[in-house]
Amino acid sequence: MTALEIVLVPCLKDNYAYLVFDRAAGVCAVVDPSEAPPVERALAGHDLSLTHILNTHHHWDHTGGNLALKERFGARVVGPEKDRARIPGIDEGVVEGDVWMLGPHAARVLEIPAHTRAHIAFWFEADGAVFTGDTLFAMGCGRLFEGTPPMMWESLGKLMALPDSTRVYCGHEYTLANGRFALTLEPGNADLKARMKEVEAARAGGAPTIPSTIGLEKRTNPFVRAASAELRRSLGLEAAEDVAVFAETRLRKDSF
Ligand SMILES: [Zn+2]
Repeated sequence: MTALEIVLVPCLKDNYAYLVFDRAAGVCAVVDPSEAPPVERALAGHDLSLTHILNTHHHWDHTGGNLALKERFGARVVGPEKDRARIPGIDEGVVEGDVWMLGPHAARVLEIPAHTRAHIAFWFEADGAVFTGDTLFAMGCGRLFEGTPPMMWESLGKLMALPDSTRVYCGHEYTLANGRFALTLEPGNADLKARMKEVEAARAGGAPTIPSTIGLEKRTNPFVRAASAELRRSLGLEAAEDVAVFAETRLRKDSF
């Protein structure tokens, strides 16, 4: 089996769609196309045709290109079954535990609700990549529009259970702002400080900071670091339960 190739497609102001393809197998999916034109240009630039559209959740900046791309390429739209009514053009709904095939490449579906009630991730286990939409960002997590802190804490826990080497492809380039927030809570975190140097250099040169990895998020993302003594001290929550530490971190980020 040839390796899955992944190409970042910047969309709108700070969204990323991704082309995920295996040329030999004749399959190419786009993950979360907010708009069609940049995706069409990326497909043309790589001499690819689109076979599938994968949506992590229903928000317009992840599905806005669905119908135009489906019409032009006859691509099949795959998204969360539990949000079928809100996914434009959906052909196939998937649920927790489903193994969805992109040609010979298996993607396991993880239900990770809270940003939206039916948000999912696509985990290409053998290819070592996960598409996390607006649930897990590089050094951040999504806002809780349709869920509670315990729900998001559980969703993030599911992602943190993946192998540390798993590459994380998220829905937005929010890394610099996320990292600045993280530093206010863990100014002594050496991994975080080192990562921020790299992120600042990348953004200064206009380069993306994606992908991250699960291992790197464990070391630098305050939203999954409720066990950190420094984080707990910063929040004044030394003795609280992990989920309460997460909830306070999310609350502080909302007004950062
Ligand atoms: Zn969203």
